[in-house]
Amino acid sequence: MDNCIFCKIAAKQIPSKLIYEDEELMAFHDINPAAPMHLLIIPKQHIASLGDCNEQHAELLGRMMLLAPKLAQEQGHGYKVGEDGQPSGGFKTMFHVGPNGGQEVYHLHLHVLGGPRPWRGQF
Ligand code: 5GP
Ligand code: ZN
Repeated sequence: MDNCIFCKIAAKQIPSKLIYEDEELMAFHDINPAAPMHLLIIPKQHIASLGDCNEQHAELLGRMMLLAPKLAQEQGHGYKVGEDGQPSGGFKTMFHVGPNGGQEVYHLHLHVLGGPRPWRGQF
């Protein structure tokens, strides 16, 4: 898509702090992090919003969600349950959908935020 910033990142026409790439997906650090870890997971294919997804996107969306705990773990913000059964660490995932959901970039992306709270602003 012309003029889509995340399509340009996917095509490596503009740089990003890339941390993951496969045939379908990419993940990179948010340019304006709202938490100590703030990652964005995107499909390389242009899909404007979660609100445009349907059954055909179920596998892609599942892969995006399952990538979040893997990358959080690699970034030192994984979710753990100790031998005493107590959870620790962890992260937050979010899709912003449309104007009322606070979406500003209309290329599907999953936010993955982690680190000690409090975080900034809407997050
Ligand atoms: P949303 O559309 O869900 O509100 O958020 C878009 C996110 O993309 C924001 O957190 C913003 O900081 C991030 N962002 C916007 N432009 C760029 C960019 O060029 N590079 C990177 N890495 N992140 C960006
Ligand atoms: Zn795009």
